[in-house]
Amino acid sequence: VTFIQIDQAIERIRAKQFLIVVDDEDRENEGDLVIATEAITPEAVHFMIKQAGGIMCAAMTKQRLAELDLPLLEAQKPDLDRCQFTITVDAADRFGVVTGESAHERAITLKALANPETGASDFLRPGHVFPVQAQDGGVLKRTGHTEACVDLAHLSGFSPAGVLCPILRDDGQMARLPDLEKLSAKWDIPIMSIADLVTYRLEHEGLVHSVKTSTYPSKFGDFELTEYRNDINDSVYMAFAMGNLDDSPTLVRVHAGCMGSDLLFSRNCDCGSELEAAFQAIAEARHGALIYIVRPEDTGSNILACTSEHSDRRDYGLGAQVLHDLGLNQIRLLTNRTAQRAALSGYGLEIVEKVSLPIPKRAG
Ligand SMILES: [Zn+2]
Repeated sequence: VTFIQIDQAIERIRAKQFLIVVDDEDRENEGDLVIATEAITPEAVHFMIKQAGGIMCAAMTKQRLAELDLPLLEAQKPDLDRCQFTITVDAADRFGVVTGESAHERAITLKALANPETGASDFLRPGHVFPVQAQDGGVLKRTGHTEACVDLAHLSGFSPAGVLCPILRDDGQMARLPDLEKLSAKWDIPIMSIADLVTYRLEHEGLVHSVKTSTYPSKFGDFELTEYRNDINDSVYMAFAMGNLDDSPTLVRVHAGCMGSDLLFSRNCDCGSELEAAFQAIAEARHGALIYIVRPEDTGSNILACTSEHSDRRDYGLGAQVLHDLGLNQIRLLTNRTAQRAALSGYGLEIVEKVSLPIPKRAG
């Protein structure tokens, strides 16, 4: 499958056109037709209902939903993975809406939802349009179609609201990638991946900020320690730097904190040995940086399990931003993994070399 580049996707949304947006295979693995709400027309609504066939929704921010007094439907149990539906709406009579059902009238309601001039009293409840609430922080917070929709509208210069409609096959089953490819060709609408949108935002938005710097005396020597926070989650990035950091090739370790192995001598994984070897390598070179990631969600019930497998492109994307902030450009990455850390090579960073870490064989 060829996914459209994100800058081209943004151009398309700005030009009031549709995109097919797909999420990861390990998530819903479904494709939605997406358009900015400000760009909606009766023809566009009709196309979505007839051709996509799923439940058409209006993706909106928490802030806007609060302004319009549209609360979430009460869930049996709160679950961020499920669609965050609010009470349904129609635009009020004075907008020319009679039943609210036709493509024409749903387009009026959708436009009214995105119009900053409208308020809570401009809508009747319940109605024929289904608003869904996007998480603040968009795809960086939750990699769903709702968040992608809001992010795309915002990045295109529209008010942060989009219309989405899941795509069904002719036999009524959910369309998967091979089906979506055929529809993409038939409709002449490109496919965009939410994973690419996550990477794009991590590469284009400054999301980390340093909060304090101090000298850190370690058994390997003195490091300059800078603590970073970020705008997406509560993770803390501790940057241990030695020597003058610049854009020359520099030894770097990005280490996802693994309490069992790093601190408590677990034999489940090699994280602790790698951490020690990385500190040693940087100290011997008297030049380099080690980023230690503390994720609060890892300190829950399963505190001793190896957590490095749970780290995703967001964790490493933010790590890349920290490295960028430290002035680094060319990375000699200290790692024993063969898999590429794609997100680390974004944000102006180039991995020029992978340096493996000598670690003792784990006792069985
Ligand atoms: Zn581990």
